[in-house]
Amino acid sequence: MPIIRVALDKPLNTLFDYLAPAGVTEQDIGCRVFVPFGKSRMTGVIMEVASHSDISPDKIKQAGQVFRDVPPLPPELLDLFRFCSEYYHHPLGEVVMNGLPIRLRSSQPFSIRTAPIIFQYRLTTKGRAVDISAIPGRSIAKRRLLVKLKQSSMIEDEEAKQFSSRAAEAMKEFVALQWVEEIPVASPVVSASPFQETPPLPVLTPAQKSAIDAIVPKMGEFNTWLLHGVTGSGKTEIYLQLISLLLRQARQTLVLVPEINLTPQLEFIFRARFPGVRLVSLHSGLNPTERAEGWVQAQHGEAEIILGTRLAVFTPLPRLGMIIVDEEHDLSFKQQEGLRYSARDVAVFRAKRAGIPIVLGSATPSLETYYNAITGRYLLLRLPSRAADNASLPTVHCIDIGKIKTQEGFSPPVISALEKCLASNQQSLVFINRRGYAPILLCRACGWTAVCHRCASRLVVHLREKKLRCHHCGHQAEFPSLCPECGNQDIAPFGHGTQRIEAALTRLFPHARIVRIDRDSTRRKDSWQRILKDIREQRVDILVGTQILAKGHDFPNLSLVSILNSDASLFSTDFRASERLFAQLMQVAGRAGRSGTPGEVLIQTGFPDHPLYRALHHHDYDTLARMLLEERKTAHFPPFVYQALLRVEAPAIATALAFLANAATLAKAPHQIKVFDPVPAQMARLKGMERAYLLVQSKSRKKLQEFLGSWRTKLDNLPSHKVRWTLDIDPLEF
Ligand code: ADP
Ligand code: ZN
Ligand code: ZN
Repeated sequence: MPIIRVALDKPLNTLFDYLAPAGVTEQDIGCRVFVPFGKSRMTGVIMEVASHSDISPDKIKQAGQVFRDVPPLPPELLDLFRFCSEYYHHPLGEVVMNGLPIRLRSSQPFSIRTAPIIFQYRLTTKGRAVDISAIPGRSIAKRRLLVKLKQSSMIEDEEAKQFSSRAAEAMKEFVALQWVEEIPVASPVVSASPFQETPPLPVLTPAQKSAIDAIVPKMGEFNTWLLHGVTGSGKTEIYLQLISLLLRQARQTLVLVPEINLTPQLEFIFRARFPGVRLVSLHSGLNPTERAEGWVQAQHGEAEIILGTRLAVFTPLPRLGMIIVDEEHDLSFKQQEGLRYSARDVAVFRAKRAGIPIVLGSATPSLETYYNAITGRYLLLRLPSRAADNASLPTVHCIDIGKIKTQEGFSPPVISALEKCLASNQQSLVFINRRGYAPILLCRACGWTAVCHRCASRLVVHLREKKLRCHHCGHQAEFPSLCPECGNQDIAPFGHGTQRIEAALTRLFPHARIVRIDRDSTRRKDSWQRILKDIREQRVDILVGTQILAKGHDFPNLSLVSILNSDASLFSTDFRASERLFAQLMQVAGRAGRSGTPGEVLIQTGFPDHPLYRALHHHDYDTLARMLLEERKTAHFPPFVYQALLRVEAPAIATALAFLANAATLAKAPHQIKVFDPVPAQMARLKGMERAYLLVQSKSRKKLQEFLGSWRTKLDNLPSHKVRWTLDIDPLEF
């Protein structure tokens, strides 16, 4: 009797055997199947078909329905899941089910909505010859429609409907008169931007040209390319030209971007350049049906460009020709819960298996990637200067706030630079990486501060809503009127957040149009898109915001960037803090002066001579990167060693540490593997759970992997009452 081995979303590192339903063959590997599990039923994926099971015949259960609504997952994808399960030491069933769109994890078969047909209209030769006077003057809608048709090469239903309610009717008449021809086009699953003419291609800069010339002859083979281009150097244009090459070969391109905020911008650029091409965009902003539809289109090979956030790395792509990871240094490529994978690293593996190129683009590559590039494992391409005509990198200056006093967070040079910008109708950006009004509520008499009782963190003051909020767990508390410790009334916000800076700017520049951009102001679904539009259309003078603004936006009219206080990260205990701060500041600074107008960056700091700020001043990524690499080498940190964390959460810290101590005893680490002592996590308490970890590291990735494999099996058998544990391979947070 044939057996199927099924991957189920269960935290057990095994496949589950069932009796196969009649008619199941090897062809069904990769299909979803509905099976009984304990007292319930659930959907899984058939990974293997076998003739024998170790489960005794009277115990093995009969599988239910096999879903053949979408084609089975292709073997390459199942391979990718197996790799992730092995490399991240995570149960295969969870990996597989995590990789599917939610809609396909359910027990309902999935039916693709037939894409609605939309129509495009254009004038026929006959129509072009019609004079406007042929239409009676009182038929205003018809006249306007004819004028519109004469002005545009092609218009869509939607566009026509927008300017008159009678347009549809009028259009029918025109079609009947043979003035207009009607062209049906299947709408893309994700609605396209209005039809765009492909703009004339820009003349490539010499650096862009040599980058493309280097990649093109190697399009048919696996290589990891690091495209290290300064901000505004025109990396997007390189992506576009490579994609265009693949489109001509009818191959698919997967483009991974950090966050949904970046997706629409790139999506717009791609659609504008390739109007007739099917592009699907896969990100968390879609509803489950949209997401599943995009996924299925990609799987059918209909979608030619797949643009998505990290989860898109698991999309089945039968004609995949290249992968692009834009802003490869971005932390959001790493999933921080469940399967803790790095989409960038998984993408490199995927490209290697598929024998295709992968391009990692960044102005500030992660040190891991940079190290791979300078040691020759990755191929390095550089774009050292800005692409747009007359655009150059901004000047960067530090303002020593040890010597110059600030008022409400602003030093006089920053205030006058902002004034100058306003006077000349240029936009400016004020960067402060803290949302809320103030990070601390402080009693000036006894030093009490408001803290979250569920997390090891302070509560942030949100003045407008008169609330205290924990940015880690979302806990909200009322504003106390007295200090709960000493009864003093003199409690006040301390330090600056975006809201406070916004308030100060409003007082300083009452006529300026100021917009705050942080997680609070962009929470509503389309608010960020609206803000971006306002910025582009010059309805904003000053942008105040957090690191959301540090992402790859192109604001052509922005010429001043002020960075208020970022010194705290200079002295963090996290060995990656300097790298991150540097990348973040380089990225924000890079928003200034991207077209024509020269840009200026002012940094308020107590440490103007710090090497990090010096490197920023000189736009010198390489020197700082090499210095940081030297430090990492001496201290035995990645990329010179490979790390893994055993993370534990428990209601009491003693329980967590005791579990880790047991785990450490079990480890019996072989030569070349170093097991450190259990320690509380940097965020020692989160949502009421105490957190601790055990760090394991080795110079050899292979040795570390072997060790983790055998350790994991032992950990599975360790009593784990009241603790939750996970392994985090190549951890980015501690
Ligand atoms: P990056 O992603 O490297 O920061 P972008 O791709 O956003 O840079 O390009 C920055 C600006 O330069 C964009 O406005 C883009 O249109 C423009 N640009 C890119 N390549 C060229 C070129 N060859 N000639 C002129 N302008 C260009
Ligand atoms: Zn007090
Ligand atoms: Zn909290």
